[in-house]
Amino acid sequence: MFKTDLEIAQECVMEGIDTIAEKVGLSSEDLEHYGKYKAKIDLEVLRRNETKPDGKLILVTAINPTKAGEGKSTTTVGLGDALRRLGKNAMIALREPSLGPVFGLKGGAAGGGYAQVVPMEDINLHFTGDMHAITTANNLISACLDNHIHQGNELDIDIERVTWKRCLDMNDRALRQIEIGLGPKANGVERKDGFNITVASEIMAVLCLATSLEDLKARFAKMLVAYNTKGEPIYVRDLHIEGALAMIMKDAIKPNLIQTLEHGPVIMHGGPFANIAHGCNSVLATKMCLKLADYTVTEAGFGADLGAEKFLDIKCRFADLHPNAVVIVATIRALKQHGNVPFEELKEENVEAMLAGCANLAKHIETIQAFGLPYVVAINEFATDTQAEVEALQNWCQTHGHPMALSQVWAKGGEGGLDLAKIVVDLCEQPNSYHPLYDVQASVEAKIETIAKTCYGADGVEYTAEALEQLAQIKANGWDQMPVCMAKTPTSLSDQDKLYGAPKGFTITVREFRPSLGAGFIVALTGKVLTMPGLPKKPAALNMDIDEQGHIVGLF
Ligand code: ADP
Repeated sequence: MFKTDLEIAQECVMEGIDTIAEKVGLSSEDLEHYGKYKAKIDLEVLRRNETKPDGKLILVTAINPTKAGEGKSTTTVGLGDALRRLGKNAMIALREPSLGPVFGLKGGAAGGGYAQVVPMEDINLHFTGDMHAITTANNLISACLDNHIHQGNELDIDIERVTWKRCLDMNDRALRQIEIGLGPKANGVERKDGFNITVASEIMAVLCLATSLEDLKARFAKMLVAYNTKGEPIYVRDLHIEGALAMIMKDAIKPNLIQTLEHGPVIMHGGPFANIAHGCNSVLATKMCLKLADYTVTEAGFGADLGAEKFLDIKCRFADLHPNAVVIVATIRALKQHGNVPFEELKEENVEAMLAGCANLAKHIETIQAFGLPYVVAINEFATDTQAEVEALQNWCQTHGHPMALSQVWAKGGEGGLDLAKIVVDLCEQPNSYHPLYDVQASVEAKIETIAKTCYGADGVEYTAEALEQLAQIKANGWDQMPVCMAKTPTSLSDQDKLYGAPKGFTITVREFRPSLGAGFIVALTGKVLTMPGLPKKPAALNMDIDEQGHIVGLF
């Protein structure tokens, strides 16, 4: 029997956070300590290193994942540890997990097996309170907005057109649509509202793109909250609370330092949804790593069609980042799914289906090539993979000229990622021609078409009448000169979740636009995208417990 992620993490004898900081030239003075094993890093560190050249930036992405994820976080952590084993000064930049899903299905965002970050329990629970700060800032906007309406509504806010929602870091489907202000007049004005999960809040996206506290405040001021009865936009600045919001976020803006099981330094900061937002850790965290280390390994959510596209088109464009190499994680079980093997049968050997499923991998490789970046395929090995399957996949990569490494970091930690790390080091020395896919000045339709054709293999894009109406408003307000953030199912290249492999002859349908003006992008929603998840019939919470000594079980 394999040990659980939690059991492995609990066996780790962690180093003090000052010792971890010293490995990248930071002193205790640069840190704000949150106990023995977590610290926030002062933003002064970035200012001090401003003129220092950036280290190499490596993005970890994946094929379209199965329900459980394909091991991007695991590979990211293992690759960071492997690079350090090769004697490189490497750091890892990860997203913070959302608390809500921890109680739902099994799955965190702290890696897996022997490639994890610790302290695992803290990371998956309240960590350093960033999620709490984001939730509070989000809900201050709602409270002030409803109070403004109650106190006479000077801004003439149309209560049918409040776009800002409340949020909570919990999977709670009952809060998706609610009515507020019920009861006597003193309880406020009655209207319909709803909750997002905290990581889907625009506050999270803004935190992850902000470059300073000033920038954070300026972005908050620009956020759209409602329209007035004339149909004109109302922003946070009209409520005059951007200063209060920035104040709430004064500590949350500072990146969090933690460690891997092998005591490598990791910055874990911010975690926006990869559908409604851009799905990568904060710009400040990535920049901090690039200044402190020679190699930064980071990841973006879901497959290359979503996370990597947004990392390369949105985050790198905004933050002027120049990636050096991309790791595309594939698993044999997911390739079999893309070869149309049902989920329940993924454990059984099926070389033929796996090879058919390689069409999905090939499409994601094409996407990374379109961005002008060198890549390596990392086969994240599972105990259920058979030798015949592994060999067939290795041959497929060889035949098509794709660099490839078998990654065993889940089972062996950094040791299992040495082959991958060596290839990555070589790739980072290659010149590359990284460029975003589209010009931001292009029309919204042209930007979406470029993404859909290049990254999804779609023939074209269709729009619902509602989406076209919203698009007209976006243009009228002059918001169309921003990048587009696509919200799409992660499990398929198309907008239909069960269309696996590399579908051909399909179009995608945009059914809604949501301007995220503080983040600086227009969200285009396809299919059904939920911004407040629900719990399954038997939530993971049922298996969790803690004893008098503080020993936790059932977290993962
Ligand atoms: P992603 O970042 O792609 O969502 P994760 O790295 O978080 O994926 O991994 C998802 C889950 O799969 C975790 O519970 C992790 O422990 C497990 N996992 C990852 N790689 C392996 C592997 N090679 N063998 C078994 N389980 C794995």
